[in-house]
Amino acid sequence: MNVTQQQLEELIAECRPYTVLGQVASYIPELAKSEPTQLGIAVCNADGSFVSAGDAETMFTLQSVSKIITLAFVLETFGEDYVFSKVGMEPTGDAFNSIAKLEETIPTKPLNPMINAGALAVTSMLPGEDAADKLNRLRQFIADLLDIELDMVKYDAEVAKSEFETTDLNRALLYFMRYHGVIEGNVEEIIDVYTKQCAILTNCKGLAMMGKILSQSGKTPSGNQVISRRNARIIRAIMTTCGMYDASGEFSVQVGLPGKSGVSGAIVACGRSDFDMADLGIGIFGPALDLKGNSIAGTKMLELLVQRHP
Ligand code: GLN
Repeated sequence: MNVTQQQLEELIAECRPYTVLGQVASYIPELAKSEPTQLGIAVCNADGSFVSAGDAETMFTLQSVSKIITLAFVLETFGEDYVFSKVGMEPTGDAFNSIAKLEETIPTKPLNPMINAGALAVTSMLPGEDAADKLNRLRQFIADLLDIELDMVKYDAEVAKSEFETTDLNRALLYFMRYHGVIEGNVEEIIDVYTKQCAILTNCKGLAMMGKILSQSGKTPSGNQVISRRNARIIRAIMTTCGMYDASGEFSVQVGLPGKSGVSGAIVACGRSDFDMADLGIGIFGPALDLKGNSIAGTKMLELLVQRHP
């Protein structure tokens, strides 16, 4: 099935009013400047065509959506046995930046790669000589996924700096994990890579393409197998159980698609063949967030889209 432009325009019109119920993230000072009424959606259809509506061209930072990309990259590079020896695969039911379960899990290991502790452990695994090399290799991986040139994969230096200067909680998670032998290396270097990875810029179409690749078992619309079938399945599974943080259960009931959100207001979702939505990728941007840090109007759009394509 193909979603139409008109269907997306209706969704934007119906859901934009929900943006007033949310708030933009402010704990990263630069993100507080986002315009809360923005709302955009793009879909990469089963036949590879793109449709979009609303603020679909606006560029925004990936934030936690970057966690599925770094996970894909380390899975492809080192294999699942190594990756899951350092980070678990169980949902926490806690906020994305919580430290609580990290202390309770023995031996110490972040419970999954979508919470900050787990994502920081994944970032610490990125291959490369130094921070710049690691970031460049990650940018190249994204360029390969999106079938674009490396220089088109940019990060927002202001957002990265703003997070780098304020992210004491992420530093605390890293020091705690290094003390317990979960990660190695220089904490400031990992924070440097992580804050830049989170600040990589995209738009709804870029997210829709990522969703499309994952829903098509790792293949781009032009047929390149950029992520193995097995790894694409692992990532979809982890998106389903952990992708929307401590709202993942509710999101699974109300939407039922593998999804991953970021505090910039990004959501990427993958179609599923048991809905009328096989091989489809969805990208959303709506910076007004609910209390759990997920785009409030973006989540509503996905609920309505799924209700209309059961
Ligand atoms: N960069 C953000 C952080 O580490 C990402 C969190 C998110 O998008 N939920 O806090």
